[in-house]
Amino acid sequence: MRRRSILALSVASSLAALAACLALPRSSAQDAPAWRQRAAEEEILCNTQEPLPYLIRENWSTRASMDRDELRARRDIHQKAIRFRTETYGFFRGFGLPEWNARTPAQNAVNLRLFDRPIRLNQRVVPAARCAEQEIARTCRDDYQPRRLSGLREQNTYHNGEVSNHVYGIAIDLDPQQNTCCNCVKEWRLHPLCQETPRSIFDRMIMPECWVHGFERYGFYWLGHDRLMDTMHFEFLGDPAHILTSDGPPPHMRERE
Ligand SMILES: [Zn+2]
Repeated sequence: MRRRSILALSVASSLAALAACLALPRSSAQDAPAWRQRAAEEEILCNTQEPLPYLIRENWSTRASMDRDELRARRDIHQKAIRFRTETYGFFRGFGLPEWNARTPAQNAVNLRLFDRPIRLNQRVVPAARCAEQEIARTCRDDYQPRRLSGLREQNTYHNGEVSNHVYGIAIDLDPQQNTCCNCVKEWRLHPLCQETPRSIFDRMIMPECWVHGFERYGFYWLGHDRLMDTMHFEFLGDPAHILTSDGPPPHMRERE
């Protein structure tokens, strides 16, 4: 009896192990979030595009070591960037002139689900967000699931004369507690991922590198490249009038050909 029960037990456990092996691919496919399948199957025809250079923070932010001409040139670029964002996305109090746009970014904002998480974005960049989502669903073979997204904000989070792209509804943070921003505020430096010097900036976050490339393909700038090392943060700095192929190619991309 005893031998038989041991035999039965070992057969049962072998079968369980076999079942587990066989079940693995099937159950992981079943567990794949529905958004990946939905986004991968969608046929959104998107223009690949790079950010407009004058919108990139690194091209207009100033440092104490810069001479007067450099500072003036950079302030001019910054003003151009504020004017473009105001005219395109809405007027945010304290930056630019209300005559440039009668509407506010909040009036142009919509609620949507991206990666199956709620977010509020300026409606002009929603197609670009969908392009990035489609790219990630098709090309990234990971199981990363952002738990929280942060989009439009009605308060400016910078206190140095800059205006955050969150107020225009064109920035997206993924998992703001886990994807670090080591040079943002000193509290971040205590985070384990900020303490050691990693091999690359991609090691300072839980988000897979593939996601960064998915966003970058469609005009989003990743602030992980910036001095801030803001790895959670993407901002759409492309041309919102040319997100889809049906809009024709973005003029600034044609210039580069
Ligand atoms: Zn952000």
